[in-house]
Amino acid sequence: MDNHFSILIIGAGTGGIMLAAQLNNKHPNLNVGIIDPADFHYYQPAWTLVGAGTYDYEKTKRPMKDIIPKKSTWIKDKVTKIDAKNNQVETSSNGLISYDSLVVAPGLTYNFDLVPGLKQAFEDPNGMAGSVYTDAKKVWKDIQNFKGGVALFTQPTTPIKCGGAPQKVMYLAEAAFKKQGVRDKSKVILATNGGVIFGVQPIKETLMKVVNRKNIQLKFGHQLVKVDPQEKIAWYKLGDNVGAHNEGVGVETIDKDGLVGIKYDFLHTAPPSVAPKFVQDSELANEAGWLEVDKNSLQSTKYDNVFGLGDVAALPTAKTGAAIRKQVPVIVDNILKILNGEKATNNNYNGYSSCPLVTDYGKMVLAEFDYNNKFIPDPKLKRMLVFNSDKEHWRLWMFKKYALPYLYWNKMMKGQDI
Ligand SMILES: Cc1cc2nc3c(=O)[nH]c(=O)nc-3n(C[C@H](O)[C@H](O)[C@H](O)COP(=O)(O)OP(=O)(O)OC[C@H]3O[C@@H](n4cnc5c(N)ncnc54)[C@H](O)[C@@H]3O)c2cc1C
Repeated sequence: MDNHFSILIIGAGTGGIMLAAQLNNKHPNLNVGIIDPADFHYYQPAWTLVGAGTYDYEKTKRPMKDIIPKKSTWIKDKVTKIDAKNNQVETSSNGLISYDSLVVAPGLTYNFDLVPGLKQAFEDPNGMAGSVYTDAKKVWKDIQNFKGGVALFTQPTTPIKCGGAPQKVMYLAEAAFKKQGVRDKSKVILATNGGVIFGVQPIKETLMKVVNRKNIQLKFGHQLVKVDPQEKIAWYKLGDNVGAHNEGVGVETIDKDGLVGIKYDFLHTAPPSVAPKFVQDSELANEAGWLEVDKNSLQSTKYDNVFGLGDVAALPTAKTGAAIRKQVPVIVDNILKILNGEKATNNNYNGYSSCPLVTDYGKMVLAEFDYNNKFIPDPKLKRMLVFNSDKEHWRLWMFKKYALPYLYWNKMMKGQDI
């Protein structure tokens, strides 16, 4: 195998594949290498629907060999170190691989040590605790086995993928509890570190209506610190922004050692998330371990020929595939400029991200926003969907369940713009 590439991409996830495909489409002769050890590529956004029993998990999974663009070289290996000074990376089995330009796109990883007890709670088959991020099928089993009591939905204080996903699961689970006839015997709570249900104004208004309709209790300023898997208690430190909504739901809490505990009968959380270790250990990382890049050009702040893409990048916006869709063309443009000996002058990434918030079986609201948390509906999507996407609508649900997976596999993964 050639051990030098004009463009080397770490990670064949949403970002890596989209980027390789767009580069290959534009410049079929470019020497593009893509390193990833995984056998399968997943369409993760549908895991929320899998967790609510309305999507087949197998349809979210495709063999990596079928997804890697044919004109790129797949190096089935794991990067263990980035040596940006010498324009090379170290791999587990293929030794050193060098590059002219590098794109770092290995996503994020989970560190359960940050919330002691959580892993044990997830691993207990009767623990009624889980996550669509790690095992969506188990979440659906637990929802079906829920016989009433407290259903607690929460999230860690670290950045997570698709920040809205923990509440999407909650809205659908609440509807499932109703169908199963256990909603009257249950209390549904969302406990988060944040101070609002969603940071984008018109979306917040829509979601508060949903929360009220479903009589869900919100607990703000709740920082998840540990879980007691035996007693089934989630323990929180309270932040300065502590607050509550729909307190009439009447969930009792326990005060102990300066922490507040919520006893649950069902628990869902996103796992504590961090950058992969080889990124944390590299000089490309910021203090928190995420890959430091210019937030508009996505170029590393330390090396001109290195770019950060997707979940691994330290960008002050939501970590989503939708964000990646807007990041890729900026990187393609900048990387080609760098290879031509020019400067990376494309500063067009404005923090666009989006979050399709399913609010019931058959209903959804689409949050689209930028670095300023301003609601900015994508004109193309607006044309396709015709109406205001900041309000719940069945057509948006159809878009999430059917159109988006189709566009992902058949357009985005093939480097076509949508
Ligand atoms: C439950 C859930 C719901 C979501 N909902 C939505 C949604 O509705 N809309 C939306 O737009 N986004 C959503 N997302 C987020 C979206 O899936 C991610 O933001 C996106 O997949 C990130 O792409 P990425 O390329 O950065 O990382 P990934 O797609 O995670 O890919 C990373 C790749 O890097 C590889 N890798 C890791 N370490 C190494 C290494 N050392 N060497 C080489 N390769 C490595 C991995 O094997 C993997 O293939 C959701 C995610 C989840 C989990």
